[in-house]
Amino acid sequence: AKAAGRNSVRFFDPSMQAQVRSRAELEAGIRRGLDNGEFELHYQPQYSDDGELVGAEALLRWQHPERGMVSPAEFIPVAEASGLIRPLGHWVLEEACRQLVRWDTDPVLGSIAISVNISAVQMHHENFVNELLNVLEHSGANARRLKLELTESMLVRNVEQTIDKMAALRRRGVGFSLDDFGTGYSSLIYLKRLPLDQLKIDQGFVHDLLHDANDTAIVRTVIALGQSLELSVIAEGVETDEQRSVLTDFGCRYFQGYLFSRPLPAEAFEALAHEQV
Ligand code: C2E
Ligand code: CA
Ligand code: CA
Ligand code: CA
Repeated sequence: AKAAGRNSVRFFDPSMQAQVRSRAELEAGIRRGLDNGEFELHYQPQYSDDGELVGAEALLRWQHPERGMVSPAEFIPVAEASGLIRPLGHWVLEEACRQLVRWDTDPVLGSIAISVNISAVQMHHENFVNELLNVLEHSGANARRLKLELTESMLVRNVEQTIDKMAALRRRGVGFSLDDFGTGYSSLIYLKRLPLDQLKIDQGFVHDLLHDANDTAIVRTVIALGQSLELSVIAEGVETDEQRSVLTDFGCRYFQGYLFSRPLPAEAFEALAHEQV
């Protein structure tokens, strides 16, 4: 009786209904947004320790006609739960590849890599490898300049299949970075088996690097781990010179964060890249 009571209260909770409605609205909105070209990619620069621009993380932006800019933190989870992440993620890959081709002949931008966030739903789909290879082929983008960001949590499911997919893409030149590293759960043996190129230290650890002894130790360990596994290590969320300097002392060679630049629309990113030459 108690459980039924709780259920009925839940069912008639107006805030719950509002949530359900807004989720349905969001889903319909994402569909419409894809049709109407409301999505765009912004690019956040990545630098090496000697100040060279080496890459850009592509971050999805939704210019909603009524609501303005909607954060990916709001719509990615809805896109994942509804399956819309597949068409959306496919668009992201196409757009990133188009951008690589547009930058191909540029003296500065022609040599940088674009990192694309891949959701678990996308990666675990049986056609992911073929679809990506098709996008690469049709766009004419150089696979060596495409890096995929995966998270630890998505790699614990279907480990063998995922390793096979990564290996197949890596043979074509696609790189892999392990995003939000340190927040999930990876054993050393397992990490060693993954065909990775890069570890990306989660911004949460970078944020408290100077004030939290545990985070200092974790960051130090991740950098050492990357070195011993011969992976490049990039720190994200670098906001201050102090953070950069401590990271450099620990042996981190690549950086991304507001200290350098926020994610920028393509034209602004291009301008930034050129002014720094
Ligand atoms: P993420 O992959 O961990 O991306 C890093 C987030 O940190 C981005 O937020 C970025 O704008 C923000 N950021 C960068 N530098 C700094 C800094 O110095 N300080 C702070 N406080 N934040 C910084 P954003 O763009 O809102 O993206 C949020 C999340 O949405 C991403 O987290 C990623 O998980 C997801 N996402 C974004 N684009 C895509 C996409 O195309 N596909 C998928 N599947 N997920 C995406
Ligand atoms: Ca990322
Ligand atoms: Ca991240
Ligand atoms: Ca994150």
